[in-house]
Amino acid sequence: MFTFFRRHALRKRLFPAAWLEVLRRRLPWYHRLTPELQRRLQGRIQIFLAEKTFEGCGGLDVTDTMRVIVAAQACRLELQHDPTHFPHCTTIYLYPDAFVSPVPQLLPGGVIGEIPTVRIGESWHRGSVVLAWRAVEASTWAAWTGRNVVLHEFAHQLDSGSGAVDGAPALRSSAAYTRWAQVVNGALTRLRAHLAWGEAPIDPYAAQNPAEFFAVATELYFEAPQRLRAFDPALHQLLEDYYGAFPSAGAEAA
Ligand SMILES: [Zn+2]
Repeated sequence: MFTFFRRHALRKRLFPAAWLEVLRRRLPWYHRLTPELQRRLQGRIQIFLAEKTFEGCGGLDVTDTMRVIVAAQACRLELQHDPTHFPHCTTIYLYPDAFVSPVPQLLPGGVIGEIPTVRIGESWHRGSVVLAWRAVEASTWAAWTGRNVVLHEFAHQLDSGSGAVDGAPALRSSAAYTRWAQVVNGALTRLRAHLAWGEAPIDPYAAQNPAEFFAVATELYFEAPQRLRAFDPALHQLLEDYYGAFPSAGAEAA
């Protein structure tokens, strides 16, 4: 109950003019929201920034502009349905650029080892999201690429809300999970077949596993929905039912 009242008060707080300037100048999709959704987004950003800690890494000084852009992109995911407020993410680590992280991989001989890997984002089930600011910033003006690292990593956070990072977020019914699995498995199988023929209708990284598939499909749903619809209309519909209809961010080519 305490959280409810605290969040209610945060939503009602005056949204700082400097933050509003960031939304207006840096996020083209903000202008496509109705006034009601703009106000809702502002309230969600207030909650996000009050509840999560940002830490600069690699010498980065985290500014309010960075915090507002990350918060706005994350909150965009939940704008049209009951928000979780990403309860497992308490800290966002920001690096200036791509960072090296040990990633568990299957090595020859069947052993699991940690390979240093260059990354622009990571999502941990318990506690944190790690982002490269340069990639976050690029996603604000290069929506047509269909890439958005903040949407990607926070989609993983939504995915973990179902108890496992398995490519399905928390859904309302077992029938919804069944439908989710059917649509995603069908689309993933088709993507792998395309890739085997040397075609990449969407980012091949999506073929890694259902969790990456959901994260990449989420990026496309918000940033390049026509490309997602062209690849798989049923998948686009599934995400529309989950995220809600959302105005496209970019003037993408069909
Ligand atoms: Zn991922």
